[in-house]
Amino acid sequence: MEKCIFCAIVKGEIPATKIFEDDLVLAFMDIAPINPGHLLVIPKEHHSSPSTIPEICAGRIFFIASRLGIALKRALPADGFNLHLADGSCAGQVVPHAHLHVIPRLADDGFHWNWRQKRYENDSARDGLADRIREKLKL
Ligand code: 5GP
Ligand code: ZN
Repeated sequence: MEKCIFCAIVKGEIPATKIFEDDLVLAFMDIAPINPGHLLVIPKEHHSSPSTIPEICAGRIFFIASRLGIALKRALPADGFNLHLADGSCAGQVVPHAHLHVIPRLADDGFHWNWRQKRYENDSARDGLADRIREKLKL
């Protein structure tokens, strides 16, 4: 594996503005915020995909991100927040160490999700796909 920038932050080899850390997770300021206060929450252990993070750590990441979102609303002028996670470069993942973005939002920050939503051709197309997904779900 090439040197992982977020593992280097965990080890203290490169600096980051840390907000919270425990034995499982680290939260720090994103170097290029979408809005000021934009945070990243990562597992301390290296995982490129969230799919391999143990459940206890994955749950901790979500819990801490949610609490940090509340802290952002208290600390900033922020009306709410987005939690965002990209798995794979096709989904927009750039840093190959899984990370959950916590992005503070203002009603008038001018940032709009630009995802087109599609429609299923009919109910059986939707239900057939739902069956295939259920069959493939391994917990
Ligand atoms: P991705 O596009 O992979 O979901 O998000 C990667 C995020 O990591 C980006 O928002 C980017 O600004 C942030 N980032 C990349 N390198 C560094 C770094 O060295 N330090 C910090 N604090 N954030 C970084
Ligand atoms: Zn890493």
